[in-house]
Amino acid sequence: MTDGIGGGEAARLMDLLEVLRRGFLAADPPDLAARRADLARLKAAVRARKGDFVRAAAEDFGRRRAEETVILDLGPVVQAAGYLARNLGRWMRPERRRVPVTLWPGRARVIRQPKGVVGIMTPWNYPFGLSLIPLATALAAGNRAMLKPSELAPASARAMAAMLAETFAPDEVAVVEGGPETGAAFAGLPFDHLVFTGSTAVGRKVMRAAAENLVPVTLELGGKSPAILGRDADFAKAARDIAWAKIANAGQTCIAPDHVLVHEDDAAAFVARLVAELERAFAGGARMTRIIDAAKARRLRALLAEAASGGAALHVIGRNAGQGREVPPAVVTGLPPDCGLMREEIFGPLLPVVTYASFDAALAGIAEGPRPLALYYYGGAEGRARALARTLSGNVTVNGAMTHYAVDSLPFGGVGASGIGAYHGREGFEAMSHARGVYDEPLRSLIPLGRTGGRFERLFAWYMMR
Ligand code: NAD
Repeated sequence: MTDGIGGGEAARLMDLLEVLRRGFLAADPPDLAARRADLARLKAAVRARKGDFVRAAAEDFGRRRAEETVILDLGPVVQAAGYLARNLGRWMRPERRRVPVTLWPGRARVIRQPKGVVGIMTPWNYPFGLSLIPLATALAAGNRAMLKPSELAPASARAMAAMLAETFAPDEVAVVEGGPETGAAFAGLPFDHLVFTGSTAVGRKVMRAAAENLVPVTLELGGKSPAILGRDADFAKAARDIAWAKIANAGQTCIAPDHVLVHEDDAAAFVARLVAELERAFAGGARMTRIIDAAKARRLRALLAEAASGGAALHVIGRNAGQGREVPPAVVTGLPPDCGLMREEIFGPLLPVVTYASFDAALAGIAEGPRPLALYYYGGAEGRARALARTLSGNVTVNGAMTHYAVDSLPFGGVGASGIGAYHGREGFEAMSHARGVYDEPLRSLIPLGRTGGRFERLFAWYMMR
């Protein structure tokens, strides 16, 4: 950042980071009890402000049901904080490691120490969960944290900033509000670790900025997560799950099934089921979350129009194509090969259904593309084994959609274009800790070094090369 505004912003953020860093350096690493107390405070604060958070999310989205905010956004924070607190003691314990015989009777272990100050940059689609679960993980690992929520969910960002300012001291947790310019300055700060959740395009810029300071990154990105249905799938369950996943938060979920792959002979019956499930779940649309802003709603309509003009069939749910920030769900079949719906991450309630003639060829198609954040497979054990072996994605749910997110003990993250590293559970704790190898050398070694020319040295040289 060299220009006046950007430079001023960078200096302001640097001051905040300095406060956190000084706080970190002034104290010993927090012990188990202190970390558990932080997690308990966070959990209690989220519970106490449930009403504020539900209202803020409804304001940001224009409409979002309380249950949706609680089940998909706030509940996961409470669950994750509880899971971290319960398991932290085990993860914090030093881990004994084997010592080669030449170094006996030395002792080796790995201790996991907090890295320092963790930067957390987050998107708007689940403004609470995607900010506060990384924060809980950073605190569990004994760090301080600086959070930059998305400017596209400003009411949620304000509510979170107020809650965190009341719950933690300024040298423990800081919040920075602002848009891409603030984001760019934030990504350029010399954090000890940076967790970015957002688009692949911005993730690239963030990693470039972090590289300047050699800041290690966890990148939680997006992509086109497929659902692939074997011929022996439970189509009723698949239709119900996938309809729910596209209606929930209006499909604005990083792990929502982006499109469905189904055998050509099963497609017509499956689409009929899917449309019926979507009609039922949509229920007139008055309860469905809106698209976060008008520009993103326009983009979704343009994607549909482009597919239609290329010959695709649209099965739009509800009475009309929606207006403003209301976008009804739609199933799209017979898509032209290179249309936007099949190129870009959809991130809305539109669902292309693509047919395949051979299951293995469909898996090969997934494997050849950018690696998705999630993959959903419906069907029996044989197809499951092939789908797992022949593709790679951040995570997988078998015979379900999106539910792996709720399993706190699993690592959550992408691979390739969908991200780098993971958080949640033990993997999150490890990502935000430094695994420090500690070797305690005995005062008297079995094979003393430093005595040159002796028998021991020759024996040692022989032993190491044997
Ligand atoms: P985004 O990349 O536009 O924004 C994410 C954050 O980056 C925001 O805080 C934003 O202010 C900031 N930002 C924007 N431009 C920036 C720049 N040039 N430099 C630095 N920071 C900048 O993403 P979004 O639209 O908020 O979220 C949608 C995307 O996030 C989708 O691709 C979705 O798949 C992905 N996502 C991933 C996960 C996951 O866990 N992997 C979760 C939710 C969303």
